Amino acid sequence: MTTATILLVEDEPAIQELLAFNVEQCGFRALKALDAEAAQLQIKQALPDLILLDWMLPGSSGIELARRLRADARTKDIPIIMLTARGDERDKILGLEAGADDYITKPFSPRELMARIRAVLRRRAPQMSEEIVSIGGIELSPATHRVSANGENIELGPTEFRLLHFFMTHVERVYSRAQLLDQVWGDHVFVEERTVDVHIRRLRQVLELSGLERLVQTVRGSGYRFSLQ
Ligand code: CA
Repeated sequence: MTTATILLVEDEPAIQELLAFNVEQCGFRALKALDAEAAQLQIKQALPDLILLDWMLPGSSGIELARRLRADARTKDIPIIMLTARGDERDKILGLEAGADDYITKPFSPRELMARIRAVLRRRAPQMSEEIVSIGGIELSPATHRVSANGENIELGPTEFRLLHFFMTHVERVYSRAQLLDQVWGDHVFVEERTVDVHIRRLRQVLELSGLERLVQTVRGSGYRFSLQ
């Protein structure tokens, strides 16, 4: 399965180290930023799968960053868990209103934090989950990397596998090439957009053997979509 990348935005080095240690222990990849500006630079390069965002940061606050990310089409869907020393109800509501998916108060229990991360990823980034997805005659198992189409096993390259998994967990939505690079490749800066076309073509060629290539549709002028219609 694809390793989820978690961006840790925390200005206290000791807490950041603790977070990174726990996140990596759980098999995730940790990226670190000490303030909102550094976080934005990292996000510009590649979209993380989830952001653990400290409320109190030097310069612009965690809340401000959450609002900015939610206001931008490219970043509005990134799951965010706010991390803060504040525990009162009003702050919690403020955090959730700014677009955070969840909220955890310091000092936190690493186990609870990891459980929250997993829950948010399950809900918001189903392509990061190990659950079997079955739709349109295709069954895909992230844990075993097996795919079958109309009951027959099919062989896919690693990129086609990730692409298909993403599509199957985001059915009927149209994605531009840049969005697919962000979501599936994790890089929209250094990979050329026509790379997407190459892998879409390969994916369709494999699905064609089972007569299922029509599931991967070109949307003229916009990009691609996985559709049952
Ligand atoms: Ca802080």
